Amino acid sequence: MHLNDPRLLRSDCYIDGRWEAADDGRTLAVVDPASGVAIADVPLMTAAETGRAIEAAAVALPAWQAKTAKERAALLRRWFDLIVDNTEDLAQLMTAECGKPIVEARGEVAYGASFVEWFAEEGKRAYGESIPSPAADRRLLTIRQPIGVCAAITPWNFPLAMITRKVAPALAAGCTVVVKPAEQTPLTALALARLAHDAELPAGVFNVLTGDPQTIGATLTASPLVRKLSFTGSTEVGRLLMAQSAPTIKKLSLELGGNAPFIVFDDADVDAAVEGALVAKYRNTGQTCVCANRLLVQDGVYDAFVARLARRVQSLRVGPGNDEGVTQGPLIDEAALKKVEAHIEDALRKGARVVTGGSRHQRGGTFFEPTVLADVTSEMRVAREETFGPLAPVFRFADEEEAVRMANDTEFGLAAYFYSRDVARCLRVGEALEYGMIGINTGLISNEVAPFGGVKQSGLGREGSKHGLDEYLEIKYLCFSTV
Ligand code: ADP
Repeated sequence: MHLNDPRLLRSDCYIDGRWEAADDGRTLAVVDPASGVAIADVPLMTAAETGRAIEAAAVALPAWQAKTAKERAALLRRWFDLIVDNTEDLAQLMTAECGKPIVEARGEVAYGASFVEWFAEEGKRAYGESIPSPAADRRLLTIRQPIGVCAAITPWNFPLAMITRKVAPALAAGCTVVVKPAEQTPLTALALARLAHDAELPAGVFNVLTGDPQTIGATLTASPLVRKLSFTGSTEVGRLLMAQSAPTIKKLSLELGGNAPFIVFDDADVDAAVEGALVAKYRNTGQTCVCANRLLVQDGVYDAFVARLARRVQSLRVGPGNDEGVTQGPLIDEAALKKVEAHIEDALRKGARVVTGGSRHQRGGTFFEPTVLADVTSEMRVAREETFGPLAPVFRFADEEEAVRMANDTEFGLAAYFYSRDVARCLRVGEALEYGMIGINTGLISNEVAPFGGVKQSGLGREGSKHGLDEYLEIKYLCFSTV
């Protein structure tokens, strides 16, 4: 891996403005999923180092909170500029540690940086209110203040954007943060810390530690100094962290698993739906929480849709993320590969058929053929579980009512998509789907200005948009007597 600025490749963690190894010197290997080769070592930190990071964030809090929003915005803006200036290095780090195609990695730098730019500005608009009083001798005001020290635990599939989507609003609001990135992708997180340091964010305001998830998670959640936890990852770990946060009554933002339906009605533009499905399903090799997990297609266009989708899927190029023209990188690890295989095997046993793909890719490693399955039914595992891989199972439905029922038949509620050219239907279905985000005639919905988040067991809270700042603010009510 070649970096223009080699200082961005870190083998130490960032605590209280300093670069530190683990107390006992232990390390964790970072592996390139495309080659299986170890590319770096980072500290394997545990409870003691986590405690120090929390302490540093707590000590840094009063001065950071006391700055004006405009002063914080200027520092965040500097961080944003450095992220953008170092796009290529950050993209190289991401492709190396999580395998995504370099074009997608560059796109993630822009997407991730946009949260820093957005919240630098939004922080200036943390307005309070003046409330007309029911009593003549009272004046009622509210102000909004930072929650305090925040913890962020982030996943490997968006090594940069899932950090900035949490850290930027926290810092803009006046909170300080301790981040634990995924063990698979610590390098991007540490490079972000290096750039924050270069932007002269004060020591202790932003800390990144890598290491043992259980111990770090347990220490962060147990600490009474940590007032808020923001987590993106699996529902299972989210549930555990929620339980661990109960004794100290922490505020929580949780962005958990999904089981996104992608519905194609008879009245859809089928070619547009195929292109939308390609993006919604195969981006990041199917490894995003808003990836279409179930394609629901109406009888009248079912065969045409399946045939055209299969043709497009056959044109996807599988390979290492840095190879020219590659659109599908490796899966993150062997366990991810086995899950895709298990879902296919289960579906075939219950009557589905392979239209294209279906097997491990001839490249070996964790590469998998982009796959389309037809004749998929609700008895199959793919109907209930998030595959998180390049598998598009196509279900069949007869009418709108059945489509909505199938789509909502899950405990998850993150993203949903549908294609139709009937405006009334678009409104009806948009309202009826029990999801936090709906793509209507589009497969791509995420940006910094819109609220990202789920309902049901897909999570709590919203990230991005003006609402993303609220997650890091408390409302304080001031009641004045005028006598
Ligand atoms: P995935 O299946 O996408 O890897 P996880 O929920 O396991 O999702 O991981 C998301 C984040 O949660 C990662 O940073 C991971 O290290 C962290 N994590 C995993 N297990 C725990 C745990 N027991 N406590 C705290 N964090 C955890």
